Amino acid sequence: MENFYLFMRRTPKKIFLFFVALLLIFTMCISCTTTSEEGVDDNGVIEEVDDEVVIDDEDEDPELEELDEEIDVEETEEADVEDKSADERAPPTGTLEAHFIDVGQGDAILIKTAEKNILIDGGDRGDTVLNYLRNQGVSSLDLVIGTHPHADHIGGLINVMNAIPVNEIIDPGVAHTTITFEDYLDVIDAKDIMFTEGRAGMKRDLGGGAEMKIIHPTSPSSSHLNNASIVARVTFGDVSFMFTGDAEQGAESQILNRDYELNSDILKVGHHGSNTSTTSPFLSAVSPSTGIIMCGTGNTYGHPHEETLVKLTNAGVDIYRTDTQGTIVISTDGLTYDVSQQPYTYDPQQEQVDEQDVVEADVEGKFVGSTQSDKYHLPDCRHAESINPQNIISFGSVSEAKEAGYVPCGVCKPPQ
Ligand SMILES: [Zn+2]
Ligand SMILES: [Zn+2]
Repeated sequence: MENFYLFMRRTPKKIFLFFVALLLIFTMCISCTTTSEEGVDDNGVIEEVDDEVVIDDEDEDPELEELDEEIDVEETEEADVEDKSADERAPPTGTLEAHFIDVGQGDAILIKTAEKNILIDGGDRGDTVLNYLRNQGVSSLDLVIGTHPHADHIGGLINVMNAIPVNEIIDPGVAHTTITFEDYLDVIDAKDIMFTEGRAGMKRDLGGGAEMKIIHPTSPSSSHLNNASIVARVTFGDVSFMFTGDAEQGAESQILNRDYELNSDILKVGHHGSNTSTTSPFLSAVSPSTGIIMCGTGNTYGHPHEETLVKLTNAGVDIYRTDTQGTIVISTDGLTYDVSQQPYTYDPQQEQVDEQDVVEADVEGKFVGSTQSDKYHLPDCRHAESINPQNIISFGSVSEAKEAGYVPCGVCKPPQ
């Protein structure tokens, strides 16, 4: 029941649109039955009602689209009004640090200012990010952003929110049918954390003169979660960051249609460096000097994709990768910034060799699991050897094991 309440609380716009759609259907039914010259039989009316509902689902109803556009316009106007006060912003004090935490395949970014701690995503489930925060002496978070409901972004937030006081959480307000997402909602509810549906135009003071402005989404859909990602630009003096979550080309083109300042020194490259993000128009609008790609070593998606590496290299962007370089920390005084690592150099030949390694490891590896647990093991793991023979199942590859819902054993540590 609590989840249902939370879900209802999170989707007022959807409910509103649903009632608008109902009203439209009702109006059309009335006009059909009263004005049709040919006379419509019962079946005809039902068919039309069905059509209407389908059209609504696909968001193609022109009147609904108009409504969406109106909402867009309203939000943009609101943002413009806010922008006028931008010059009155406090000058930067102290330093701002952005930690792009190595969480394997996933995103987790800690921002520390002179006054506040902000966390954008928490990687997959587990304690990696919680431990990182503790090592950094972070005992409370002023703001957490769950860019979108995929597990490689919100999974780790569950343990973080359980262990550390959080003042506010912002996410796109779209639902997802996974246990991880349910658990995430439960923690927000149990800890009574202030929840905000993030929408383009919203701003947050990050302390020390740093400011965050959300530039996406305006009307997210749960049918494409990556494009529902919260995209935010952070400014600190003259230095600016663009955080993109898993926003893909659809989101990027919507962002380009809004009248926001996009130019940023540092770009968190969208969707782990996938070729479905970082379109040329978006890249040239952001025009970063530094690009951070967050992905896992030997991930099964092939992230980062070669197209993205080529695009960034051709645009003269210094590339940093969490899969090959680990955690990357950027610190800035608001005038210039330092990166904790040396840039990665894209070398097409080396890249091909690496890709072959990944494929071979995936094909050759043989792993075993038990029907009574969710771990996959190397065949010589002591846990694997103790599995009752009638419960043994074997996997030809890591991806096969993962597709079956298995996770790597913590003892034998098979490839992930
Ligand atoms: Zn992701
Ligand atoms: Zn995603």
